[in-house]
Amino acid sequence: MNKKKVIIIIIVISFIILSISGILLFDYINNKEDTNKSNTNISNVESLQKLGYSKESIEQLEKLDILDKVLKNEYSKTLDVALSSNKFKSEYLDLYLNVEYLDKEDFIDKINALNDKGYTIEEINFILSKINYEDITYILESNYIENIKDYLNIENMDIQKLRRYIDYYNNNSSKDLRSVINYVNMDMDKTPYVDYKTVEDPNNILVLVNKYNKLADDYKPDDLERINTNYSVRNLYLRKEAKEAFEALCRDASSLGLSIRAISSYRTFDYQKGLYDNYVSVNGVEEADTYSARPGFSEHETGLATDVMGSNGNYTRFAETNEYTWVVNNAHNYGFIIRYPKDKENITKYMFESWHLRYVGKDAATYMYENNLCLEEYLASKLK
Ligand SMILES: [Zn+2]
Repeated sequence: MNKKKVIIIIIVISFIILSISGILLFDYINNKEDTNKSNTNISNVESLQKLGYSKESIEQLEKLDILDKVLKNEYSKTLDVALSSNKFKSEYLDLYLNVEYLDKEDFIDKINALNDKGYTIEEINFILSKINYEDITYILESNYIENIKDYLNIENMDIQKLRRYIDYYNNNSSKDLRSVINYVNMDMDKTPYVDYKTVEDPNNILVLVNKYNKLADDYKPDDLERINTNYSVRNLYLRKEAKEAFEALCRDASSLGLSIRAISSYRTFDYQKGLYDNYVSVNGVEEADTYSARPGFSEHETGLATDVMGSNGNYTRFAETNEYTWVVNNAHNYGFIIRYPKDKENITKYMFESWHLRYVGKDAATYMYENNLCLEEYLASKLK
């Protein structure tokens, strides 16, 4: 062997040794990284267990490679349940981390659905804090509602009417939300005489009978009493409480030299039908509807309303009398209101009737007098 050959062999052997060392070193470093990583994973898993996450949830988080991210937050029962429910959507991780859990079977479905609609986490938490859980359905019936928080902040808002508020708001954009809610609570979005309810508690002193609320055809109050004939033009009847209050009103007015007398009080369904049919035959339906109630829709059938006349003997000109001026300022002290005031025609859907008094009791009458409310507005403001 010559020198040259020996050198070449040495070089080749050195090269082989270096290559093997390199490969071994590379493997070693790589293995070390893997071990580090799995060590980190092991400690993350332990931390998550300590926080309270279930084994299944942690396995899922591991698969999704988001152990780190979840660990940066406090334990979230919502996330834990979402992971084990197969309703989990990885893009909604922040939602699950930041919405407080409610123990309801479909909770994850509901918050997913709210998020799908476009509600922010803050809005979802607000909704959950403001309404009954079951009522979320009403929110999900509509597209995203930009001012949902404004709606939920109005105290007499009835969530079951949400769809109607939105429709009314969209068709009457100049109105503020509070008015919209009041108007819909008063059923003003409905069609008079077409879209009506039958009154459930006809004996209630505050009963609302109007073009959206009808009495049963056979309703008859069972405590009707005849009004003292000093204060009525013929035999007329009111319910006991209303009759006594009306007589007191007339008596006190009389002591001041004023003459107030009932000209029409309780009416049966049949009587109202005859009256209305007659008006229709003379003026047609459209005009008759502005001043006369259809049978079943007349307050006179409650036994709580009476038409009156003053000293000029003409009820249609009652507004020109001193009696009227006195009634405007004093009727509430006896529990009566002027039921169809001049400035409320768009709500009552009746033209101004100075002569039509309605008994509602002293408290309600005084409240309406002091706050300039008609009966619909008063009841809507109390509605929840
Ligand atoms: Zn009347």
